[in-house]
Amino acid sequence: MEKTPKSRAMLHAKCPRCRRGKMFEGGMYSFSSNRINIHCPDCRMIFEIEPGYFYAAMYVSYALNIMEGGMICYLTYLITGNSDSPWLYTSAILFGLFALSPVNFRYSRVFLLYWLSPKVHYHPELDKPAIVTESREAVTNLKTTT
Ligand SMILES: [Zn+2]
Repeated sequence: MEKTPKSRAMLHAKCPRCRRGKMFEGGMYSFSSNRINIHCPDCRMIFEIEPGYFYAAMYVSYALNIMEGGMICYLTYLITGNSDSPWLYTSAILFGLFALSPVNFRYSRVFLLYWLSPKVHYHPELDKPAIVTESREAVTNLKTTT
């Protein structure tokens, strides 16, 4: 049985326990539907471990913003060569961080659950295709309803 690598599961924002179920519903840049699922669609793990757990993701998001702001400043300097105008750097940081906010929203929660939650562990026995069990359930549901 092939196991899902942690880096790939994190990149695709999959559940930290089974590495199969999606943590988020909707696309990263769809503002109407970019929200975290209550529980994993595969292994039923509840993502918000305790009430208000994702307040801690704000600190992760803050750290991400600081790093990204630094990188945006460096890129602005490389591209323009300007070292005089503070407004150039201020507007570049504001625009860049606004554009990256859906990324930060998503990956701050991913980093929190994968790296900063000691109670959350990977369960390799849950890391298997869900299609087989779902189709079996669908077949048994069909049999019971008809
Ligand atoms: Zn899961």
